[in-house]
Amino acid sequence: MNLEEKLISLRRELHQHPELSGEEFQTTQKLTAWLKEAGIRILPYDLKTGVVAEIGHGSPVIALRADIDALPIEENSEAVCPSLEKGKMHACGHDFHATVLLGAALLLKQNESRLVGTVRLFFQPAEENYSGALQLIKAGVLNDVDVVFGFHNAPKMPVGEFGTCHGAIMANVDRFEINLAGVGAHAAYPENGTDVIVAASEIINSLQTIVSRNISSHDSAIVSVTRINAGSGWNILPEKAELEGTVRTFDASIRKEIQRRMRDLVYYLAKAMDVGAQFLWHEGPPAVINTPYWSDFSAKIARQFGYVTHNVTPQNGGEDFAHYLHHRPGVFFHIGTGSPQSLHHPGFNIDEKAIFPAAEYYALLAEEALKDLKNTQASA
Ligand SMILES: [Zn+2]
Ligand SMILES: [Zn+2]
Repeated sequence: MNLEEKLISLRRELHQHPELSGEEFQTTQKLTAWLKEAGIRILPYDLKTGVVAEIGHGSPVIALRADIDALPIEENSEAVCPSLEKGKMHACGHDFHATVLLGAALLLKQNESRLVGTVRLFFQPAEENYSGALQLIKAGVLNDVDVVFGFHNAPKMPVGEFGTCHGAIMANVDRFEINLAGVGAHAAYPENGTDVIVAASEIINSLQTIVSRNISSHDSAIVSVTRINAGSGWNILPEKAELEGTVRTFDASIRKEIQRRMRDLVYYLAKAMDVGAQFLWHEGPPAVINTPYWSDFSAKIARQFGYVTHNVTPQNGGEDFAHYLHHRPGVFFHIGTGSPQSLHHPGFNIDEKAIFPAAEYYALLAEEALKDLKNTQASA
């Protein structure tokens, strides 16, 4: 079996046994065993799940990251080896990411003597609930790391294509909750109560003025109310209403401004409508902000490698890879996997032809980045 065939079969093994965020025990065990089998050293970080390994020696240090967790989705795809775990599925392709990183590790290990520094491998758990990157950073994995690279499969991009950009590539992700409390009443006698449903409607409509009236047309932001919960019957005015939703932005100051405007609209409109209000803001991961130098570098190596490269527009999805780039320079890029369905869809499936080239590219990128850093160190 050649390396390409081996990687395809390892990916199928991961795909058949998906594990949810923070529960990647078997996945961690398998990855660790495969790394050890290749003689790759495992670093003794204190992690519940996930594994960090290293190839090469000394400075500079490049980190390559892949996430490894799956989603609570019942698979209904054309995959050769679909999930064997009921209600769990690798619908975001993190099995592909883990396999590509493993493949890169095996290739780098074969050429370890050629490396002019160290490549650290992050097999990161719990990306889907945005907690894994923070766990790894807290454990100290970024110590001595000069540059960090990460990627996501891009289902809409054909195999053989690559995309990245300068600056923000993925959004700030925040969640909000609005709780309204009024006085319930008979629907025939609204004057006896204070109506949370009318207040909720005013608030929802007004929230939609933030992007159109408070944000420049040259910037981008989304405010979406995604859940409303109120009422129990046709002739009762309820005393409570709950709203929930998400805000997506790319700029830190716009993120703050939207939060401020939302809070004001909720409290002042509720006051005007005579109902009580609570506004809760749950901060998710910040935007993934690429370092322009490394974004250009990754695209240059991709072209040399033979990928067709694109300058992609930022996406409104979130990625906890953002936390690494908060501490270190680096880049996040997309690799085409030509999937028929989008991420998080029960029919999601990747084209296996994308695996081996992606592993070769990831290894090449690390090796070339080490050389580049070494040259900079030498000339400094
Ligand atoms: Zn996902
Ligand atoms: Zn993902």
